[in-house]
Amino acid sequence: MLEDAKYYFQKAADVMELPERLREILITPIRVVKVDLVFDDDNGKLQHYLGFRVQHNKARGPMKGGLRFHPDMDEDHATALANLMTWKTAVVDVPFGGAKGGINCDPSKMSERELNVVTRKFVEQTKEIIGPTTDIPAPDVNTNAKVMGWIMDEYSKYAGFSPGVVTGKPLHLFGSEGRDEATGRGVMVVLDEALKGLGKSWKDIRVAVQGFGNVGSNAARLIADQGAKVVAIGDHMGGVSNDDGLDIAALNEWVKEHRTVKGFAGGSPFHSPVVITWDVDVLIPAALEGAINMGNVNEVKADIIVEGANAPTSPEAHEILVERGVLVVPDILANAGGVTVSYFEWVQNIQQFSWQYDRVQQELTSVMRRAYAAVNKVARQYSIDMRTAAFVLAIRRVGEAAKARSFFEEDIQL
Ligand code: NAD
Repeated sequence: MLEDAKYYFQKAADVMELPERLREILITPIRVVKVDLVFDDDNGKLQHYLGFRVQHNKARGPMKGGLRFHPDMDEDHATALANLMTWKTAVVDVPFGGAKGGINCDPSKMSERELNVVTRKFVEQTKEIIGPTTDIPAPDVNTNAKVMGWIMDEYSKYAGFSPGVVTGKPLHLFGSEGRDEATGRGVMVVLDEALKGLGKSWKDIRVAVQGFGNVGSNAARLIADQGAKVVAIGDHMGGVSNDDGLDIAALNEWVKEHRTVKGFAGGSPFHSPVVITWDVDVLIPAALEGAINMGNVNEVKADIIVEGANAPTSPEAHEILVERGVLVVPDILANAGGVTVSYFEWVQNIQQFSWQYDRVQQELTSVMRRAYAAVNKVARQYSIDMRTAAFVLAIRRVGEAAKARSFFEEDIQL
């Protein structure tokens, strides 16, 4: 996965004619931490999980990135995702660097007590490297507001009252209005920009979504609210389709109870992976990485792809899509709504002042539209695809900050 992140970086660096030395400085993480989390499970048996935190770059501010609880979490994943966070925060121009981490556990097989204990162990062993002005975790796959609340509580035991150490917290524990839906809302806003650019309207489009968790469910709801038809959704258990458009509110109720879209009566069932090749105008991968790959890219029918997930498209598949003229709105732009509202939450925590929902929504919308326009401008300037353009913009911004802080000696025009 790290190789994929490096591929996009190098491609943009080639466009910028960036010297080799500078590439190495910008791509190398500044710190990689691995911790062993030993705890007693509910049966009193000693168990181990590994926790990771990779801090990639802090030129533009405190490092920021999610915590993922997943059996596949390892150093390679954390490093690749930390890298993406550096470029993502720069694309939306929030004053953060990039980090990422997680634990190689499967929360679906753990009790709440076990999850709580393991989360707190992770904080105990990383407390020296995280903090409101150094590195601020947030939710990612299989972590949520409740887990973020535990992190704030545990960290505050060591450092004193510190709501700004983590974002995505519960609303009644210094969370922000609108954080829960922020990534999905950002996906909807960039899709709105893409449609405008192509002269299409919401009413014209049929949409398929992979994943119905935080990102997928909110994106589907907000997109359906605009008047588009969301006709197919697949998750880790199965898929459901309805040519007249799925009732997203009813589907949400179903998923709350059953934790999967499988079995929802408001549509027909299908084998989940097929969602990627559904006959639609817009595809939103919002699950895990590598969803669009050499095995299925030639069957993809959508002509707009908005990457709700991180790294859902392999580099080879991306090149084929670009060649075919598919508009791919890349992850570091499309799903940056989450980190943007995380920034708003952090600002509110530092100021001890809460924003109303409307303000969050307006500010998020304007950040996302501005970022889309900035990426689009670079894409036109160099005649390159949106992903390469987003990387060029981000590398330029991170490079300028690093240069201003004299992280390197070369006086290079970025
Ligand atoms: P989540 O845990 O809330 O939901 C994940 C969804 O993916 C679930 O519906 C699950 O069923 C589905 N899924 C898992 N494996 C699948 C498979 N093999 N096939 C089909 N579906 C599968 O996670 P999330 O927070 O919605 O994150 C989804 C993606 O978005 C991740 O790549 C994450 O890094 C990225 N992301 C999340 C945020 C955020 O704010 N939560 C922000 C930016 C990026």
